[in-house]
Amino acid sequence: MIDVAQIYKDSGALLEGHFILSSGNHSNRYLQSAKVLEDPKRAEVLATELAKMIKEAGIEVDTVCAPALGGVLAGYELARALGVRSIFVERKDAKMQLRRGFEVKEGEKIIICEDIITTGGSAMEASEIIESLGADVVAFAALANRGFCKRAGSNKEAKAECKLPREKPFFALADFEFEMYSPDECPMCKAGSEAIKPGSRGN
Ligand code: ZN
Repeated sequence: MIDVAQIYKDSGALLEGHFILSSGNHSNRYLQSAKVLEDPKRAEVLATELAKMIKEAGIEVDTVCAPALGGVLAGYELARALGVRSIFVERKDAKMQLRRGFEVKEGEKIIICEDIITTGGSAMEASEIIESLGADVVAFAALANRGFCKRAGSNKEAKAECKLPREKPFFALADFEFEMYSPDECPMCKAGSEAIKPGSRGN
């Protein structure tokens, strides 16, 4: 088994400091998922491990589908490791769509792959469009799980915020569950430190 947390740390993807999360809460940790995929060799190591979990669970997959933009690299690497086709859906006019000539067949077995699953909202939107086209979503996958959803093999239950269907397996390499504080109760704010907003929104 590979040390997933160490790989994220080594690649500068696991940040420590004082951050404003997209929920508005503050945390002393932040996962900058794109950074771990900066190095294709690292991406390959992670995707190979994820593919191994999926194969060992006996899940048959024809195609990996990722929600763009965040999931595309992880999905592509997972498809390579599984030896299957890779497609992605993308948001256009606020709605997730399958474009660019990508097609799915009736009954095609699809796994939805993200770089990171928080509550699984984008993954669910991808799943809904794929199923509306007649294919079967057999499982969900992500390199990292933020701890709201229950990954296969973990004894930590899903939280109410998790949008993934409980009856389908969700494969992820590790849980990254961080302490979160509302801005009013944040001990780092109380200590006089100023929170910064990392990630895709704003920079
Ligand atoms: Zn704070």
